[in-house]
Amino acid sequence: MINKGKIHGLVSFAIFELTIVLSVYTIALKSLLFAAIYFIGCVVAAAVILFLFCAKCTTKNNCSHIYPGNLAQLFPDKLNERYRKTDYFGTGVSLTFVFIVPQFWLWSYKVLFIVFWVLSIIAILQINGFVCAKCENTKCAMCKKK
Ligand code: SF4
Repeated sequence: MINKGKIHGLVSFAIFELTIVLSVYTIALKSLLFAAIYFIGCVVAAAVILFLFCAKCTTKNNCSHIYPGNLAQLFPDKLNERYRKTDYFGTGVSLTFVFIVPQFWLWSYKVLFIVFWVLSIIAILQINGFVCAKCENTKCAMCKKK
């Protein structure tokens, strides 16, 4: 069923994907090779996050972002495992790669740089205010329901 949390989850996920498209486009304006490397890096980063974090999420069957939860079910079931420091580290490094690497190129195009961060801030506020606030994954260190 689509509730308010799922609408924000879906919209924030779409915005997040849009920032990646914007990043690939911006890098491609300078170098097609680096754009391709960054895109492949994003695919690898997504797989790492799904494997380390989403595969252990207790709400992956009812994921507010919908698609990560569905994709996480393709990975070995790790529902009974707790999150380890290496899971947080790998997830953090993957997110840092996706967000920080394109800044070097975005900075050369100030309008695109501003659009990237406005979109990112909207998605982060949605996730923090409406997705994480209702998430039941009490294994997560950031869970607000503990
Ligand atoms: S709710 Fe769970 S499955 Fe969905 S994105 Fe968050 S951690 Fe991944």
